[in-house]
Amino acid sequence: PAAMAAAAEKVITGLIRSGHEAYWVGGCIRDELLGRPVHDMDITTSAHPDEVTALFPRVIPTGIAHGTVTVLEDGQGFEVTTYRTESGYADHRRPEQVSFVTDVTEDLRRRDFTINAICCGPDGLLVDPFGGERDLELGRIRCVGDARERFEEDALRMLRCLRFAAVLDFAIAKNTWRGLLRQRDLLAHIAAERVRAELERIVEGPHPVRGLGLLSRSGLLPRGKAPFPWTGSTLAAAAAGVSGIGELQSAHLRWALLLHALGTPAEEADGLLRAWTFPGATRSAVAGVLRVREAWTALLEVPPGEPGGTEALRRRWIAAVLRHGTEAAAGWLTVLAALPAAERDAAAPDAPPLRVAAQSWTAEMPLSTLAQLAVSGGELAQALQRRPGPWVGAILSGLLHAAACGDIRNDNQSLLQEAKRMIEHEQL
Ligand code: ATP
Ligand code: MG
Repeated sequence: PAAMAAAAEKVITGLIRSGHEAYWVGGCIRDELLGRPVHDMDITTSAHPDEVTALFPRVIPTGIAHGTVTVLEDGQGFEVTTYRTESGYADHRRPEQVSFVTDVTEDLRRRDFTINAICCGPDGLLVDPFGGERDLELGRIRCVGDARERFEEDALRMLRCLRFAAVLDFAIAKNTWRGLLRQRDLLAHIAAERVRAELERIVEGPHPVRGLGLLSRSGLLPRGKAPFPWTGSTLAAAAAGVSGIGELQSAHLRWALLLHALGTPAEEADGLLRAWTFPGATRSAVAGVLRVREAWTALLEVPPGEPGGTEALRRRWIAAVLRHGTEAAAGWLTVLAALPAAERDAAAPDAPPLRVAAQSWTAEMPLSTLAQLAVSGGELAQALQRRPGPWVGAILSGLLHAAACGDIRNDNQSLLQEAKRMIEHEQL
Protein backbone atom coordinates (compact mmCIF):
# COMPACT_ATOMS: atom_id res chain seq x y z
CA PRO A 1 0.00 0.00 0.00
CA ALA A 2 2.80 2.45 0.84
CA ALA A 3 4.55 1.47 -2.40
CA MET A 4 1.26 1.88 -4.28
CA ALA A 5 0.72 5.33 -2.76
CA ALA A 6 4.27 6.35 -3.64
CA ALA A 7 3.88 5.24 -7.24
CA ALA A 8 0.49 6.95 -7.53
CA GLU A 9 2.00 10.09 -6.07
CA LYS A 10 4.63 10.10 -8.82
CA VAL A 11 1.86 10.09 -11.41
CA ILE A 12 -0.06 12.83 -9.61
CA THR A 13 2.95 15.10 -9.12
CA GLY A 14 4.00 14.49 -12.73
CA LEU A 15 0.64 15.82 -13.85
CA ILE A 16 0.74 18.77 -11.45
CA ARG A 17 4.27 19.78 -12.51
CA SER A 18 3.06 19.94 -16.08
CA GLY A 19 0.45 22.47 -15.07
CA HIS A 20 -2.55 20.14 -14.62
CA GLU A 21 -4.66 19.35 -11.60
CA ALA A 22 -4.64 15.78 -10.30
CA TYR A 23 -6.02 13.94 -7.28
CA TRP A 24 -6.57 10.55 -5.77
CA VAL A 25 -10.31 9.94 -5.99
CA GLY A 26 -13.14 7.61 -5.11
CA GLY A 27 -12.80 4.24 -3.42
CA CYS A 28 -9.18 4.69 -2.31
CA ILE A 29 -9.98 7.90 -0.41
CA ARG A 30 -13.13 6.36 1.09
CA ASP A 31 -11.29 3.25 2.25
CA GLU A 32 -8.27 5.22 3.48
CA LEU A 33 -10.50 7.50 5.58
CA LEU A 34 -12.26 4.43 6.98
CA GLY A 35 -8.96 2.74 7.78
CA ARG A 36 -9.83 -0.11 5.45
CA PRO A 37 -7.38 -1.76 3.08
CA VAL A 38 -6.99 0.10 -0.21
CA HIS A 39 -6.85 -2.24 -3.20
CA ASP A 40 -6.41 0.19 -6.05
CA MET A 41 -5.91 3.89 -6.52
CA ASP A 42 -7.77 5.89 -9.12
CA ILE A 43 -6.62 9.31 -10.23
CA THR A 44 -8.72 12.17 -11.57
CA THR A 45 -7.13 14.99 -13.56
CA SER A 46 -7.83 18.09 -15.60
CA ALA A 47 -5.38 16.80 -18.23
CA HIS A 48 -6.91 15.34 -21.40
CA PRO A 49 -6.15 11.72 -22.23
CA ASP A 50 -3.71 12.68 -25.02
CA GLU A 51 -1.86 14.94 -22.59
CA VAL A 52 -1.67 12.14 -20.01
CA THR A 53 -0.49 9.75 -22.73
CA ALA A 54 2.24 12.18 -23.85
CA LEU A 55 3.47 12.70 -20.30
CA PHE A 56 4.24 9.12 -19.24
CA PRO A 57 6.30 6.46 -20.98
CA ARG A 58 3.94 3.55 -20.37
CA VAL A 59 0.26 4.24 -20.91
CA ILE A 60 -2.54 1.86 -21.90
CA PRO A 61 -5.59 3.43 -23.61
CA THR A 62 -8.06 1.60 -21.35
CA GLY A 63 -11.20 3.60 -22.10
CA ILE A 64 -9.88 6.57 -23.96
CA ALA A 65 -13.25 7.63 -25.34
CA HIS A 66 -14.47 8.05 -21.76
CA GLY A 67 -11.27 9.78 -20.74
CA THR A 68 -9.59 6.87 -18.97
CA VAL A 69 -6.05 5.67 -19.53
CA THR A 70 -3.95 3.38 -17.38
CA VAL A 71 -0.54 4.75 -16.44
CA LEU A 72 2.06 2.17 -15.47
CA GLU A 73 4.46 3.34 -12.79
CA ASP A 74 6.82 1.16 -10.76
CA GLY A 75 5.14 -1.92 -12.14
CA GLN A 76 1.65 -0.85 -11.03
CA GLY A 77 -1.25 0.42 -13.09
CA PHE A 78 -3.29 3.48 -12.21
CA GLU A 79 -6.48 4.51 -13.93
CA VAL A 80 -6.19 8.18 -14.75
CA THR A 81 -9.49 9.73 -15.80
CA THR A 82 -10.03 13.20 -17.17
CA TYR A 83 -12.58 15.35 -15.31
CA ARG A 84 -15.83 14.67 -17.07
CA THR A 85 -19.56 14.96 -16.92
CA GLU A 86 -21.98 12.40 -18.28
CA SER A 87 -25.36 12.73 -19.93
CA GLY A 88 -28.09 10.90 -21.82
CA TYR A 89 -28.48 7.65 -19.93
CA ALA A 90 -31.07 6.29 -22.35
CA ASP A 91 -30.52 2.68 -21.28
CA HIS A 92 -30.52 3.42 -17.54
CA ARG A 93 -26.97 2.21 -17.32
CA ARG A 94 -24.41 3.94 -19.51
CA PRO A 95 -24.18 7.62 -20.47
CA GLU A 96 -24.43 8.30 -24.20
CA GLN A 97 -22.22 11.31 -23.90
CA VAL A 98 -19.27 12.26 -21.80
CA SER A 99 -17.75 15.73 -21.91
CA PHE A 100 -14.43 16.75 -20.47
CA VAL A 101 -14.67 19.62 -18.00
CA THR A 102 -12.20 21.82 -16.16
CA ASP A 103 -13.72 21.89 -12.68
CA VAL A 104 -13.08 18.97 -10.34
CA THR A 105 -16.39 19.59 -8.57
CA GLU A 106 -18.22 18.81 -11.82
CA ASP A 107 -16.36 15.54 -12.02
CA LEU A 108 -17.24 14.67 -8.43
CA ARG A 109 -20.89 15.53 -9.12
CA ARG A 110 -21.27 12.67 -11.63
CA ARG A 111 -20.18 10.11 -9.02
CA ASP A 112 -22.74 7.95 -7.29
CA PHE A 113 -22.46 8.47 -3.54
CA THR A 114 -20.99 11.25 -1.42
CA ILE A 115 -18.52 8.83 0.17
CA ASN A 116 -17.23 8.03 -3.34
CA ALA A 117 -17.08 11.69 -4.37
CA ILE A 118 -14.10 12.84 -2.36
CA CYS A 119 -10.68 13.53 -3.77
CA CYS A 120 -7.35 14.35 -2.21
CA GLY A 121 -4.11 15.83 -3.50
CA PRO A 122 -0.51 15.24 -2.44
CA ASP A 123 -0.91 18.04 0.13
CA GLY A 124 -3.39 15.80 1.96
CA LEU A 125 -6.24 18.30 1.61
CA LEU A 126 -9.61 16.82 0.76
CA VAL A 127 -11.84 18.18 -1.97
CA ASP A 128 -15.22 17.17 -0.64
CA PRO A 129 -18.01 19.39 -1.97
CA PHE A 130 -20.87 17.01 -1.10
CA GLY A 131 -20.10 16.22 2.53
CA GLY A 132 -18.68 12.76 1.91
CA GLU A 133 -16.37 12.85 4.92
CA ARG A 134 -19.27 13.65 7.19
CA ASP A 135 -21.27 10.77 5.72
CA LEU A 136 -18.32 8.49 6.36
CA GLU A 137 -18.34 9.63 9.99
CA LEU A 138 -22.09 9.14 10.24
CA GLY A 139 -21.89 5.78 8.49
CA ARG A 140 -24.32 6.74 5.79
CA ILE A 141 -24.75 6.09 2.07
CA ARG A 142 -26.19 9.11 0.34
CA CYS A 143 -26.51 9.90 -3.35
CA VAL A 144 -24.75 12.91 -4.80
CA GLY A 145 -27.70 15.08 -5.81
CA ASP A 146 -31.25 13.83 -6.25
CA ALA A 147 -31.47 10.10 -5.56
CA ARG A 148 -34.41 9.51 -7.90
CA GLU A 149 -32.53 11.07 -10.79
CA ARG A 150 -29.28 9.35 -10.01
CA PHE A 151 -30.91 5.91 -9.85
CA GLU A 152 -32.89 6.64 -12.99
CA GLU A 153 -29.71 7.53 -14.86
CA ASP A 154 -27.95 4.34 -13.84
CA ALA A 155 -30.00 1.64 -12.20
CA LEU A 156 -26.92 -0.33 -11.19
CA ARG A 157 -26.32 2.34 -8.56
CA MET A 158 -29.25 0.90 -6.57
CA LEU A 159 -27.37 -2.33 -6.07
CA ARG A 160 -24.12 -0.49 -5.44
CA CYS A 161 -25.99 1.41 -2.75
CA LEU A 162 -27.01 -1.82 -1.01
CA ARG A 163 -23.57 -3.28 -1.54
CA PHE A 164 -21.79 -0.35 0.10
CA ALA A 165 -24.35 -0.31 2.92
CA ALA A 166 -23.77 -4.03 3.49
CA VAL A 167 -20.01 -4.15 3.10
CA LEU A 168 -19.42 -1.07 5.24
CA ASP A 169 -22.35 -1.78 7.56
CA PHE A 170 -23.67 1.71 6.83
CA ALA A 171 -27.15 3.14 6.99
CA ILE A 172 -28.85 4.46 3.86
CA ALA A 173 -29.97 8.07 3.93
CA LYS A 174 -33.73 8.45 3.93
CA ASN A 175 -34.01 10.23 0.59
CA THR A 176 -31.63 7.82 -1.03
CA TRP A 177 -33.72 4.89 0.17
CA ARG A 178 -36.92 6.55 -1.03
CA GLY A 179 -35.36 7.24 -4.41
CA LEU A 180 -34.29 3.62 -4.64
CA LEU A 181 -37.79 2.33 -3.88
CA ARG A 182 -39.20 4.68 -6.51
CA GLN A 183 -36.84 3.47 -9.22
CA ARG A 184 -36.53 -0.18 -8.36
CA ASP A 185 -38.36 -1.38 -11.48
CA LEU A 186 -35.45 -0.03 -13.52
CA LEU A 187 -33.29 -2.90 -12.31
CA ALA A 188 -34.77 -4.76 -15.29
CA HIS A 189 -32.33 -2.77 -17.47
CA ILE A 190 -29.24 -4.13 -15.80
CA ALA A 191 -27.38 -7.15 -17.15
CA ALA A 192 -27.66 -10.20 -14.90
CA GLU A 193 -23.90 -10.37 -14.78
CA ARG A 194 -23.60 -6.94 -13.17
CA VAL A 195 -26.30 -7.81 -10.67
CA ARG A 196 -24.54 -11.05 -9.83
CA ALA A 197 -21.22 -9.28 -9.29
CA GLU A 198 -22.83 -6.93 -6.74
CA LEU A 199 -24.69 -9.80 -5.08
CA GLU A 200 -21.45 -11.69 -4.69
CA ARG A 201 -19.91 -8.75 -2.89
CA ILE A 202 -22.96 -8.51 -0.62
CA VAL A 203 -23.29 -12.20 0.19
CA GLU A 204 -19.55 -12.89 0.35
CA GLY A 205 -18.76 -9.72 2.29
CA PRO A 206 -18.44 -9.09 6.03
CA HIS A 207 -22.13 -8.31 6.73
CA PRO A 208 -24.18 -10.64 4.53
CA VAL A 209 -27.16 -10.72 6.90
CA ARG A 210 -27.49 -6.97 6.73
CA GLY A 211 -27.13 -7.11 2.95
CA LEU A 212 -29.79 -9.78 2.55
CA GLY A 213 -32.15 -7.84 4.78
CA LEU A 214 -31.66 -4.76 2.60
CA LEU A 215 -32.09 -6.77 -0.59
CA SER A 216 -35.30 -8.22 0.74
CA ARG A 217 -36.70 -4.88 1.92
CA SER A 218 -35.74 -3.14 -1.32
CA GLY A 219 -37.70 -5.56 -3.48
CA LEU A 220 -34.98 -5.19 -6.13
CA LEU A 221 -34.22 -8.78 -7.05
CA PRO A 222 -37.66 -9.89 -8.26
CA ARG A 223 -37.46 -6.96 -10.69
CA GLY A 224 -34.14 -7.92 -12.26
CA LYS A 225 -33.47 -9.75 -15.51
CA ALA A 226 -32.44 -13.04 -13.92
CA PRO A 227 -35.18 -15.47 -12.83
CA PHE A 228 -36.41 -15.08 -9.28
CA PRO A 229 -38.66 -18.05 -8.52
CA TRP A 230 -39.40 -16.98 -4.97
CA THR A 231 -41.82 -14.54 -3.42
CA GLY A 232 -40.67 -11.45 -1.61
CA SER A 233 -41.71 -12.98 1.68
CA THR A 234 -39.73 -16.16 1.00
CA LEU A 235 -36.66 -13.98 0.57
CA ALA A 236 -37.49 -12.09 3.75
CA ALA A 237 -37.86 -15.35 5.67
CA ALA A 238 -34.64 -16.70 4.19
CA ALA A 239 -32.80 -13.49 5.05
CA ALA A 240 -34.02 -13.86 8.62
CA GLY A 241 -33.16 -17.58 8.70
CA VAL A 242 -29.52 -17.32 7.69
CA SER A 243 -28.16 -15.45 10.67
CA GLY A 244 -25.17 -17.80 10.70
CA ILE A 245 -24.18 -17.11 7.09
CA GLY A 246 -21.33 -14.83 8.11
CA GLU A 247 -19.63 -17.73 9.91
CA LEU A 248 -19.19 -19.56 6.61
CA GLN A 249 -15.79 -18.85 5.14
CA SER A 250 -16.22 -20.10 1.61
CA ALA A 251 -18.40 -18.32 -0.86
CA HIS A 252 -20.04 -21.45 -2.26
CA LEU A 253 -21.19 -22.51 1.20
CA ARG A 254 -22.86 -19.14 1.69
CA TRP A 255 -24.72 -19.57 -1.59
CA ALA A 256 -25.64 -23.13 -0.65
CA LEU A 257 -27.01 -21.97 2.70
CA LEU A 258 -29.00 -19.24 1.03
CA LEU A 259 -30.49 -21.56 -1.60
CA HIS A 260 -31.27 -24.03 1.16
CA ALA A 261 -33.07 -21.32 3.12
CA LEU A 262 -34.96 -20.39 -0.04
CA GLY A 263 -36.05 -24.01 -0.39
CA THR A 264 -34.39 -24.61 -3.75
CA PRO A 265 -34.10 -28.30 -4.75
CA ALA A 266 -30.61 -29.44 -5.75
CA GLU A 267 -31.67 -30.17 -9.32
CA GLU A 268 -32.84 -26.60 -9.81
CA ALA A 269 -29.79 -24.97 -8.29
CA ASP A 270 -27.45 -25.38 -11.24
CA GLY A 271 -29.89 -23.93 -13.77
CA LEU A 272 -30.70 -21.01 -11.51
CA LEU A 273 -27.10 -20.19 -10.82
CA ARG A 274 -26.39 -20.46 -14.53
CA ALA A 275 -29.14 -17.97 -15.31
CA TRP A 276 -27.58 -15.75 -12.65
CA THR A 277 -24.27 -16.09 -14.58
CA PHE A 278 -22.35 -17.76 -11.78
CA PRO A 279 -19.19 -19.53 -12.94
CA GLY A 280 -19.29 -23.30 -13.44
CA ALA A 281 -17.10 -24.05 -10.43
CA THR A 282 -19.45 -22.23 -8.06
CA ARG A 283 -22.51 -23.85 -9.64
CA SER A 284 -21.27 -27.39 -9.29
CA ALA A 285 -19.92 -26.83 -5.77
CA VAL A 286 -23.26 -25.39 -4.63
CA ALA A 287 -25.30 -28.08 -6.37
CA GLY A 288 -23.07 -30.75 -4.79
CA VAL A 289 -23.73 -29.42 -1.29
CA LEU A 290 -27.47 -29.29 -1.97
CA ARG A 291 -27.46 -32.87 -3.21
CA VAL A 292 -25.90 -33.92 0.08
CA ARG A 293 -28.61 -31.90 1.82
CA GLU A 294 -31.17 -34.07 0.04
CA ALA A 295 -29.32 -37.25 0.98
CA TRP A 296 -29.27 -35.96 4.56
CA THR A 297 -33.00 -35.43 4.61
CA ALA A 298 -33.48 -38.94 3.28
CA LEU A 299 -31.10 -40.23 5.94
CA LEU A 300 -33.28 -38.83 8.66
CA GLU A 301 -36.41 -40.40 7.22
CA VAL A 302 -35.68 -44.11 7.58
CA PRO A 303 -38.07 -45.92 5.25
CA PRO A 304 -40.23 -48.58 6.94
CA GLY A 305 -38.63 -51.99 6.72
CA GLU A 306 -35.08 -50.62 6.66
CA PRO A 307 -32.90 -50.93 9.72
CA GLY A 308 -32.79 -47.86 11.92
CA GLY A 309 -30.28 -47.16 14.61
CA THR A 310 -26.98 -45.40 14.64
CA GLU A 311 -25.04 -48.03 12.72
CA ALA A 312 -27.54 -48.03 9.87
CA LEU A 313 -27.40 -44.25 9.76
CA ARG A 314 -23.64 -44.34 9.66
CA ARG A 315 -23.59 -46.76 6.74
CA ARG A 316 -26.09 -44.72 4.78
CA TRP A 317 -24.23 -41.51 5.49
CA ILE A 318 -21.02 -43.08 4.20
CA ALA A 319 -22.86 -44.16 1.06
CA ALA A 320 -23.92 -40.55 0.56
CA VAL A 321 -20.37 -39.30 1.09
CA LEU A 322 -19.08 -41.78 -1.49
CA ARG A 323 -21.72 -40.80 -3.97
CA HIS A 324 -21.39 -37.01 -3.68
CA GLY A 325 -17.79 -36.66 -2.59
CA THR A 326 -16.18 -35.77 0.71
CA GLU A 327 -15.95 -32.10 -0.13
CA ALA A 328 -19.66 -31.68 -0.78
CA ALA A 329 -20.44 -33.80 2.29
CA ALA A 330 -18.19 -31.76 4.57
CA GLY A 331 -19.63 -28.63 2.96
CA TRP A 332 -23.17 -29.65 3.88
CA LEU A 333 -22.21 -30.41 7.48
CA THR A 334 -20.61 -26.96 7.71
CA VAL A 335 -23.73 -25.34 6.26
CA LEU A 336 -25.85 -27.35 8.66
CA ALA A 337 -23.82 -26.09 11.61
CA ALA A 338 -24.56 -22.52 10.50
CA LEU A 339 -28.34 -23.07 10.58
CA PRO A 340 -30.45 -21.95 13.52
CA ALA A 341 -30.22 -24.47 16.38
CA ALA A 342 -33.78 -25.75 15.97
CA GLU A 343 -33.21 -26.69 12.35
CA ARG A 344 -29.60 -27.69 12.75
CA ASP A 345 -30.22 -30.47 15.25
CA ALA A 346 -33.87 -31.07 14.49
CA ALA A 347 -33.58 -34.84 14.35
CA ALA A 348 -31.78 -35.24 17.64
CA PRO A 349 -33.28 -33.00 20.29
CA ASP A 350 -31.63 -34.74 23.22
CA ALA A 351 -29.07 -37.13 21.74
CA PRO A 352 -25.71 -35.76 20.57
CA PRO A 353 -26.49 -34.19 17.22
CA LEU A 354 -26.27 -36.47 14.22
CA ARG A 355 -24.44 -33.63 12.50
CA VAL A 356 -21.53 -34.04 14.90
CA ALA A 357 -21.57 -37.81 14.58
CA ALA A 358 -21.56 -37.52 10.78
CA GLN A 359 -18.49 -35.33 11.01
CA SER A 360 -16.53 -38.02 12.80
CA TRP A 361 -17.93 -40.80 10.62
CA THR A 362 -16.60 -38.89 7.62
CA ALA A 363 -13.25 -38.22 9.25
CA GLU A 364 -12.85 -41.89 10.16
CA MET A 365 -13.43 -43.17 6.63
CA PRO A 366 -10.20 -44.90 5.59
CA LEU A 367 -10.85 -44.05 1.96
CA SER A 368 -13.44 -42.23 -0.12
CA THR A 369 -12.76 -42.76 -3.81
CA LEU A 370 -12.50 -45.70 -6.19
CA ALA A 371 -9.00 -44.53 -7.06
CA GLN A 372 -7.95 -45.26 -3.48
CA LEU A 373 -9.32 -48.79 -3.58
CA ALA A 374 -6.51 -51.38 -3.58
CA VAL A 375 -8.01 -53.27 -6.48
CA SER A 376 -8.85 -52.28 -10.05
CA GLY A 377 -11.67 -53.38 -12.31
CA GLY A 378 -9.21 -55.24 -14.55
CA GLU A 379 -7.75 -57.19 -11.65
CA LEU A 380 -11.21 -58.05 -10.47
CA ALA A 381 -12.24 -59.47 -13.86
CA GLN A 382 -9.04 -61.47 -14.05
CA ALA A 383 -9.17 -62.85 -10.52
CA LEU A 384 -12.81 -63.84 -10.84
CA GLN A 385 -12.33 -65.08 -14.42
CA ARG A 386 -15.30 -63.22 -15.75
CA ARG A 387 -15.68 -60.97 -18.77
CA PRO A 388 -15.61 -57.30 -17.84
CA GLY A 389 -19.06 -55.76 -17.81
CA PRO A 390 -21.37 -53.61 -15.75
CA TRP A 391 -20.91 -56.03 -12.86
CA VAL A 392 -17.40 -54.64 -12.32
CA GLY A 393 -18.67 -51.19 -11.39
CA ALA A 394 -21.30 -52.65 -9.09
CA ILE A 395 -18.75 -54.80 -7.27
CA LEU A 396 -16.23 -51.98 -7.04
CA SER A 397 -18.69 -49.62 -5.46
CA GLY A 398 -19.84 -52.36 -3.10
CA LEU A 399 -16.21 -52.91 -2.12
CA LEU A 400 -15.65 -49.19 -1.70
CA HIS A 401 -18.63 -48.90 0.62
CA ALA A 402 -17.54 -51.93 2.64
CA ALA A 403 -13.98 -50.65 2.96
CA ALA A 404 -15.12 -47.09 3.72
CA CYS A 405 -17.39 -48.44 6.47
CA GLY A 406 -14.49 -50.43 7.89
CA ASP A 407 -16.14 -53.85 7.25
CA ILE A 408 -13.13 -55.05 5.31
CA ARG A 409 -9.54 -53.92 4.98
CA ASN A 410 -8.47 -51.99 1.94
CA ASP A 411 -5.87 -54.45 0.74
CA ASN A 412 -5.85 -56.43 -2.47
CA GLN A 413 -6.39 -59.84 -0.83
CA SER A 414 -9.28 -58.83 1.40
CA LEU A 415 -10.96 -56.98 -1.44
CA LEU A 416 -10.71 -59.88 -3.88
CA GLN A 417 -11.99 -62.25 -1.22
CA GLU A 418 -14.93 -59.99 -0.51
CA ALA A 419 -15.60 -59.65 -4.24
CA LYS A 420 -15.82 -63.42 -4.55
CA ARG A 421 -18.16 -63.58 -1.64
CA MET A 422 -20.34 -60.91 -3.18
CA ILE A 423 -20.48 -62.77 -6.49
CA GLU A 424 -21.38 -66.01 -4.75
CA HIS A 425 -24.19 -64.32 -2.92
CA GLU A 426 -25.17 -62.74 -6.21
CA GLN A 427 -24.87 -59.32 -4.73
CA LEU A 428 -24.56 -57.81 -8.19
P1 ATP B 1 -14.58 -0.75 -5.10
O1 ATP B 1 -13.47 -0.72 -6.11
O2 ATP B 1 -14.18 -1.18 -3.75
O3 ATP B 1 -15.81 -1.42 -5.60
P2 ATP B 1 -14.88 1.98 -5.82
O4 ATP B 1 -15.54 3.12 -5.13
O5 ATP B 1 -13.46 2.14 -6.22
O6 ATP B 1 -15.06 0.75 -4.86
P3 ATP B 1 -15.38 1.48 -8.58
O7 ATP B 1 -16.49 0.72 -9.22
O8 ATP B 1 -13.99 1.00 -8.72
O9 ATP B 1 -15.77 1.61 -7.04
O10 ATP B 1 -15.51 2.96 -9.12
C1 ATP B 1 -14.57 3.99 -8.84
C2 ATP B 1 -15.32 5.29 -8.61
O11 ATP B 1 -16.08 5.65 -9.75
C3 ATP B 1 -16.33 5.25 -7.47
O12 ATP B 1 -15.72 5.52 -6.23
C4 ATP B 1 -17.30 6.31 -7.87
O13 ATP B 1 -16.80 7.60 -7.57
C5 ATP B 1 -17.34 6.19 -9.38
N1 ATP B 1 -18.38 5.28 -9.86
C6 ATP B 1 -18.26 3.96 -10.08
N2 ATP B 1 -19.39 3.43 -10.55
C7 ATP B 1 -20.27 4.45 -10.64
C8 ATP B 1 -21.62 4.55 -11.07
N3 ATP B 1 -22.29 3.48 -11.50
N4 ATP B 1 -22.19 5.77 -11.03
C9 ATP B 1 -21.51 6.85 -10.61
N5 ATP B 1 -20.24 6.81 -10.20
C10 ATP B 1 -19.62 5.64 -10.21
MG1 MG C 1 -12.33 0.70 -7.38
